[in-house]
Amino acid sequence: MHLSRVRLSRDQEDIQVWGFDDSGLFSVNSAYSAYECIAHPVRSSQNDVFRYLWKIKTFPNVLTTTWRVLIGRIPTRENLSRKGVIMNTILCAMCESKEETCQHTFIECVAAQRVWSLCLRWIGIVSVQQNAILSHFESFYLPQLSSRQSLLWKGVWATIVACIWEPRNSIVFNQGVADVEEIFQKVQLKSWQWLKHRGPSFSYSFTDWMLNPLICIRSYK
Ligand SMILES: [Zn+2]
Repeated sequence: MHLSRVRLSRDQEDIQVWGFDDSGLFSVNSAYSAYECIAHPVRSSQNDVFRYLWKIKTFPNVLTTTWRVLIGRIPTRENLSRKGVIMNTILCAMCESKEETCQHTFIECVAAQRVWSLCLRWIGIVSVQQNAILSHFESFYLPQLSSRQSLLWKGVWATIVACIWEPRNSIVFNQGVADVEEIFQKVQLKSWQWLKHRGPSFSYSFTDWMLNPLICIRSYK
């Protein structure tokens, strides 16, 4: 079928083309991407996750981080080590006591747990499933929300995840610290900024948002 589309010509010389780059030229980067495509083909569930996240219309950096977290492609130390990157340690940058996997960084790490605990108390969710990152995401919901309101709710989850990843990077690259209270305040501010950015339907002040996020989301049309 592929060959039937090929048109042979006597007037043109044969050339070699590297098919994994638009330029047709080989590069180490494109070889690496090709390897990733062949070794780890994108599963439809990953596409579904991305399609859903796209509807949230959150900030691009939050969207990218969340997507990578949900499909297990965030460059944690354990992930990098599996790809052959040599590092001094693969222990978690935040607690330095367990291997830095995706699951550990965003759910099990003591710093992440404290952030989730503050956030869950703030927004009024009693608990979420802790066994896997995808079920954590899925169980982060409230009944009686419209589909538009549920998207906002998932956007808050995405903001929390992105706000956990930021200080982790700051520790690794700038000798920063993971200040749990600061991360929590950043979640409140960033999620409010995002909701204001989405459009005029969200008219609440930052103080309203901090005091009662649930009422703010429930009144979103
Ligand atoms: Zn940790």
